[in-house]
Amino acid sequence: MNEKHTIINLDEAKKLKEKYPTPFYIYDENGIRKQAEEFISAFSWNEGFREYFAVKATPNPAVLKILKSCGCGVDCSSLTELMMAKALGFEGDDIMFSSNETADAEFALAAQLGAIINLDDITHIDALEKAAFIPERLCLRYNPGGDFEIAGEIMGRPSDAKYGMTKKQLFEAARILKQKGVKRFGLHAFLASNTRGNDYWPALSLLLMETAAEVEDKCGVKVEFVNLSGGLGVPYRPSEDKCDIAEIGKRIEKNAASIFKKYGRRYKIFTESGRFMLAPYGQLVSEVIRFKHTYKEYAGLDACAANLMRPAMYGAYHHITVLGKENKKADRKYDVVGSLCENNDKFAVDRMLPELEEGDIVVLHDAGAHGFSMGYNYNGKLRSAEILKKSDGTYELIRRAETPTDYFATLDIYPEFACFKR
Ligand SMILES: *Cc1c(COP(=O)(O)O)cnc(C)c1O
Repeated sequence: MNEKHTIINLDEAKKLKEKYPTPFYIYDENGIRKQAEEFISAFSWNEGFREYFAVKATPNPAVLKILKSCGCGVDCSSLTELMMAKALGFEGDDIMFSSNETADAEFALAAQLGAIINLDDITHIDALEKAAFIPERLCLRYNPGGDFEIAGEIMGRPSDAKYGMTKKQLFEAARILKQKGVKRFGLHAFLASNTRGNDYWPALSLLLMETAAEVEDKCGVKVEFVNLSGGLGVPYRPSEDKCDIAEIGKRIEKNAASIFKKYGRRYKIFTESGRFMLAPYGQLVSEVIRFKHTYKEYAGLDACAANLMRPAMYGAYHHITVLGKENKKADRKYDVVGSLCENNDKFAVDRMLPELEEGDIVVLHDAGAHGFSMGYNYNGKLRSAEILKKSDGTYELIRRAETPTDYFATLDIYPEFACFKR
């Protein structure tokens, strides 16, 4: 069980709404800081541990600055994410670059920034050498194939995943890179997403540390770190439990001890968590603007899937709180929908809620990761503002809402739209 709290109450929402029309995202600095501190302290036993926050989950400068001040690095996967990291003062060891189908310009900037480059494929050795140079330290992304099972339960299907290289390719890549002057290696794998319970990272850590020892023995190279990447889930439903990060850290520590006993080796642990770090600390705030009574009861919001895509894309559950009606009985059944001309634009189907009225403000929970960032402009919809509730209780606009001028900016090549030139 986990209790769902809203970051702002009805009064706060009404006040914010005067200045920043709904829909908007609200983030909780206190929550983010507390989470980052707990997360990092779960790995305090591991010398050299680092969390590289997955920028794609929440690419907002204010959020990245908070995480930076907590000691996190960033995991980037594209040119603009690298540019954002650079602009915010991340450099060298602060940046992990875990990309795939990587363009030359991306390799070039990552190399120039001294980022830790995580090669997705053996063919990327040549690509990187041509686009930039082979650095002294590199990470390799491993895909063990088959199903990833823990205690008989399938957690992920690596054999279907486009990421990473086979074990044979891993050994060959390490040998080639050794000849090309790489002195320090890392090993990375991402085998399951949004996992619940505490089993995924401990199992993955063992697999990666075993494989690291094997690579060292077979290829005569030094592996410095294993990168557990992302994949830790969050309890989107109130009935679900949160992962126990302290317990996960302890179990990885045990695995590290067994690897030390067996091989006499220690590895730094790196992580690239996105969802677990941020999802619970961001919420989408939206107003109920329309109702329909047809074959079902529909409540229409001023937000749509362009603001939060997960329900439309994955059928994902996001808990909904109606501000000011927290203690009212949830005795009405609604489809809570957005305005896209797409029938999958439904934030909730057959959801029991208190009776809704026009003007009610609703909060969609656990939208702090892979929420705003997955937004898009379908139907000409504009991206919303993002607001931070700071530790001192004040509010800060951390991204303004898009305007039609932003939307038409790329059409300024037409005389009819030249007035939208920025
Ligand atoms: C998306 C991604 C992450 C973050 O995943 P979460 O599930 O949000 O923790 C980390 N690393 C890589 C390479 C990714 O693609």
